[in-house]
Amino acid sequence: MQISASMLYNLVQCPKRVALDLFGDLSIRDEVSAFVQLLWEQGAAYEQKVMASGAHAALDLSAFEGEEKERLTHEAMARGEPLIYAGRISADDLVGIPDLLRKVAGGYVPIDIKSGAGKEGGGEDDDGKPKLPYAVQLCLYVDVLERLGLSAGRQAWIYDVRGEEVLYELDAPRGPRGKATIWEEYQDRLAEARRIVASGGLCRGALSAKCKECHWRSACSMELKSNDDLTLIPFLGRAMRDAMVDTIGSVGEFAQCDPEAFMVGKKTVFAGIGPDRLRKFHLRARLLSDPDARPMLTAVVPLPRSEVELFFDIEVDTMRDLTYLHGIVERRGGDSANERFHAFFAEDESAEAERAAFAGSFALLTADPGATIWYYSKYERTLYRKLQARYPDVCSAEDVERLFDPARAIDLYYDVVTKATEWPTNDHSIKTLAKYLGFAWRDNNPSGAASIEWFDQWVKTRDPAMRQRILDYNEDDCRATRVLLDGIRGLA
Ligand code: SF4
Repeated sequence: MQISASMLYNLVQCPKRVALDLFGDLSIRDEVSAFVQLLWEQGAAYEQKVMASGAHAALDLSAFEGEEKERLTHEAMARGEPLIYAGRISADDLVGIPDLLRKVAGGYVPIDIKSGAGKEGGGEDDDGKPKLPYAVQLCLYVDVLERLGLSAGRQAWIYDVRGEEVLYELDAPRGPRGKATIWEEYQDRLAEARRIVASGGLCRGALSAKCKECHWRSACSMELKSNDDLTLIPFLGRAMRDAMVDTIGSVGEFAQCDPEAFMVGKKTVFAGIGPDRLRKFHLRARLLSDPDARPMLTAVVPLPRSEVELFFDIEVDTMRDLTYLHGIVERRGGDSANERFHAFFAEDESAEAERAAFAGSFALLTADPGATIWYYSKYERTLYRKLQARYPDVCSAEDVERLFDPARAIDLYYDVVTKATEWPTNDHSIKTLAKYLGFAWRDNNPSGAASIEWFDQWVKTRDPAMRQRILDYNEDDCRATRVLLDGIRGLA
């Protein structure tokens, strides 16, 4: 069985997914979600658009498959073809289909066309760092080229969504603080992929945000629960579980332990887990193991009351880089029965529509300086800073900072839930906590990813039912924030 570039891409997301894709029982696989399908379609459409634009005059091998494709690729490289599209290369147990192979001095370099940004993170003075899923794919292509004696060096490019070629230096660390080079990270992932293949798919799952859109989520969820896996504890991820699992095998076992027994001076016996974090995980394990457990306050936090409360949530199409909905539920005098929903919807995907929605929402949020604004996670503030930079005629940067002044705008997630509460749940998402408190979304598939897919359908069809579905989902998210706030007030 060969190791492919796409296998390594998936392995960076989750090694268990690679194991299940190779050896899992296909009859228990979930449907691929509409959002993931949309991502695939958009990726393929972008690649076609780039190639059709004529910017890359290449030998096109996209119509060929398997061994014939590979033979034609080798022949093309042997005669020094300057650019090859959709060729296939393999050596030993490695195989890859780089989007482009470009002839430069000394050999060939690979280029992948991606419908996303070429790098991740970054800020004003820094353009971010290479994305690991992209990097491991590029490394595999270069590895094959090296084995074939056709590599021009450990460099590769991503042709990104903005039409820029982003250089990946494979012998350098990914970021300024990284110690391992990209190539070393690739070697680790390659070794892991080989281990999975050699073992016939032996690999532990780990509950994470990635599971939500994964086609193995039902199967993994059952397995993790039946194993009482430590990753069922919020924020105890794969690496920490692996550091602990030989000593403490399950949530139930952990709940029975005395965490102080694992302290060594200012550390614990588990690499990467400090004493405070271990105590917090232990408390969560106890809550999860006790059928009568209730949520609890662990610290005093201000939960100001005001005549007007605004519960605020936005929807962003990450693929179009467009904020298409600002939803606000307004409650007066604590009267939830008569609260009102305000929606500022970008009626199309134009900048004018995005600006109009932003301007409308900003006006409402700032109309009453005495109102308290509640939102869930820093995302809203980050997006408002971005929108302000994009539409400086709507408001100034200082206006945005004033709007998000912690004295009146409170991030219920970071400032309250994570700092001062504990829950007998597997995560602290708004969906999980509001459902725990009895709130029900009207939609049977409520998620931000699904909303992006509905917006895409709205853009393509202008179906009013789709528009309404987006609004209802967002309204329920805003109400869920209110339900959670009231629930936390109840704990006090
Ligand atoms: S459901 Fe989660 S653990 Fe299972 S394969 Fe998917 S991402 Fe991995």
